Amino acid sequence: MSAVPRRLLPDSAAVADDGWLTIGGCHLGALTEQFGTPLFVYDEDQLRSRCREAVQVFGRGRVVYATKAFLCRAMARLAHEEGLLLDVSTGGELHVALSAGVPGSQCVLHGNNKSDEEIRAALSAGIGRIVVDSFDELDRLEAAHRDGFGPVPDVLIRVTPGVHAHTHEFISTGQDDSKFGFNLANGDARRAVSQAAASPAVNLVGTHCHIGSNVFRAESFARAVEVMAGFAAEVELPQLVLGGGLGVAYTADEEAPTISQWASVLREACESLGVSSDVYVEPGRSIVADAAVTAYTVGTIKDIPDVRTYVAVDGGMSDNPRPVLYGSGYEALLARSPFAERPLTVRVVGKHCESGDVLLSDAAVPEDLRVGDVLVTPVTGAYGQSMGSNYNRIRRPAVVFASGGSAREVVRRETFDDLLATDVG
Ligand SMILES: *Cc1c(COP(=O)(O)O)cnc(C)c1O
Repeated sequence: MSAVPRRLLPDSAAVADDGWLTIGGCHLGALTEQFGTPLFVYDEDQLRSRCREAVQVFGRGRVVYATKAFLCRAMARLAHEEGLLLDVSTGGELHVALSAGVPGSQCVLHGNNKSDEEIRAALSAGIGRIVVDSFDELDRLEAAHRDGFGPVPDVLIRVTPGVHAHTHEFISTGQDDSKFGFNLANGDARRAVSQAAASPAVNLVGTHCHIGSNVFRAESFARAVEVMAGFAAEVELPQLVLGGGLGVAYTADEEAPTISQWASVLREACESLGVSSDVYVEPGRSIVADAAVTAYTVGTIKDIPDVRTYVAVDGGMSDNPRPVLYGSGYEALLARSPFAERPLTVRVVGKHCESGDVLLSDAAVPEDLRVGDVLVTPVTGAYGQSMGSNYNRIRRPAVVFASGGSAREVVRRETFDDLLATDVG
């Protein structure tokens, strides 16, 4: 297998005089020495440029960053500084956004099972919008209103358009089967719009849909626009939110549209269908995924002749559960020779007590891979750290933002005492 494609690495990735990978002008060897491994390294300039690209093509105030992809205070602040609103789907995500100094008015509350506590915290924070997901939620909003919680929030009705987007293909079904939103086909969406429009507890401003995640073909979104355009025309509301879901390439054989290409497809679809509402989007993955890499240290190499070679690193499913959850693929490279040819095939595994703790099932790696090497997996900026766990009481990794030759730690590595922080007995 040839070298890892350059396009999978952050924009600022380069090779230092000694052959090592640099990101944001920072030497990976120096970073891993200072902050330890596993380590998430984000190219901060790339995070900012993806945010700017989205704001430029969709318009200021029209881009809502889906924080579940990656959230810490520094990321909340960065997205806010770049003009994005924040999509928060739990009280926890809202708390992080607020504690980063992002005003509640710049947050959008999501979630298919918002609690009274979450709804009331959002109202108290002056939440920008609430995307209503169920009739029970409408009841809760009315109860909060009766109990004096305010101000009256702007809300959107989340619609399940009967359009299913799978990773590589696109299937449109008549029958909805989703825990999210109001079903369009069976009339629930219309009933929800009528109920919200008549309620003094909410100010209905629009409709919303999100067809899925890691969608590779921008045209796939056009189908959702088609379904939503009809409904939006019928209900005549000023806002139409088309969700997130733009895919990113994780491996050498994948290609994904850019944010600008995605915007063109949505714009063309909206124009040809005569959509008059303002269009909003909620990208998560496409903002953060390819801005980061994870650096691990190789600890053991076990060769089983005629079977395979296992290369074990010092993290695993606790910092990147995507391979276990979705069978997702990644590439690997060595920080000391990032663009070396990779003739060997090995299985890269973590250090958890599970045979399933696999990071790369069949990783192409350089011939001279050895114990002690810093192994890097690109495109780990989304749904890695945010989905991470303390399984096996592992200390979750540090996160650094690298830019202009310096790195700032935005999340420190957990300590052993952090692992005891919530034990009260
Ligand atoms: C997850 C999610 C997003 C973001 O999805 P990405 O695939 O990360 O772009 C946007 N909107 C909603 C409602 C979501 O649940």
